[in-house]
Amino acid sequence: MIRLTGKDEPGVIEALAEHIDRPFRARQIARWILHRGAQSFDEMTDLPRSLRESLSRTFVLDDPEIVQVVPSSDGSHKYLFRLSDGATIESVAIPDRGKMTLCLSSQTGCAVGCTFCVTGALGAGRNLEPHEIVGQYRAIIRRETHDQGPVNIVFMGMGEPLLNAGNLGSSLDALFETISPKRITVSTAGVIPGIRWLARLPRRPKLAVSLNAPDQALRETLMPIARRYPLVELMAELRRFPLERGRRITFEYVLIRGVNDSEKLARALVRLVRPIPSKINLIPLNSDPDFLPGFERPPDDVIDRFARVLRNAGRTVTVRWSKGHDVAAACGQLKGAHHAVR
Ligand code: SF4
Repeated sequence: MIRLTGKDEPGVIEALAEHIDRPFRARQIARWILHRGAQSFDEMTDLPRSLRESLSRTFVLDDPEIVQVVPSSDGSHKYLFRLSDGATIESVAIPDRGKMTLCLSSQTGCAVGCTFCVTGALGAGRNLEPHEIVGQYRAIIRRETHDQGPVNIVFMGMGEPLLNAGNLGSSLDALFETISPKRITVSTAGVIPGIRWLARLPRRPKLAVSLNAPDQALRETLMPIARRYPLVELMAELRRFPLERGRRITFEYVLIRGVNDSEKLARALVRLVRPIPSKINLIPLNSDPDFLPGFERPPDDVIDRFARVLRNAGRTVTVRWSKGHDVAAACGQLKGAHHAVR
């Protein structure tokens, strides 16, 4: 069987070429798959029945299987998916004032090993294939009801997306068929070759960089990958990153009590990011004492003080009071089936 999901429109049309005698039919089918999330040829009611039957003998439109949907009291839904090899991943749908943000995974674990991250504690997993990445979007969007506002996608789920750049690129091509690049954000721990790859794409999603410390020594303790891609080189690369008009790089900074939450570090952060058009997203740590003993969220007044130092220095700052916390769906809490259902 030939899989059509995970391809962009030219990919779908090419795969169908030998099986369709009228080219407009291939475009029709591509639209059913990419725009309407069709899961079977039976849904394609504007195709002749005989064609639908013959296509379903050759092609498959599969998505990862939804094993569980856990609702949060704030309206978020955490999705647990099972893949065809039995691996499991998680994604989160976050409704917010008429918009829907989907946090998707790119790998089944993460080799980067950030010390504050539950996914990192699971260790390396495998790369997700394009149909497994796009399939999270297709499966969730079919199930979620919202008021038809825009959908945003953030690659901040399980895995480091820029360590799976090839499959991420194919997935972006498919997603761009229905979602504008400016509504898709790729978040990296600072994989410099991946950032260079992203910079060369003709259609670029937005870039977010998980920073978490303004100096090399502290960053190395939180993010071992900083040894491979030192902060000074990372910032030099980001200064070169091409930004479309009005776009900025987002720096994510997970605030950890007594580790990286001092006003002195806030001032160092200001100096570090000043040369780059950017905004800072502060993410108070979502504590998970089972997995990460000793890592705690700072008190609210410490978070406020840290944010005030940044704002007073003219930086744009948001504090992400993570959604989905009560179902372990917030940032740094996604961990696949191992402990997902508690
Ligand atoms: S924070 Fe992101 S890059 Fe770091 S270990 Fe977790 S999933 Fe991987």
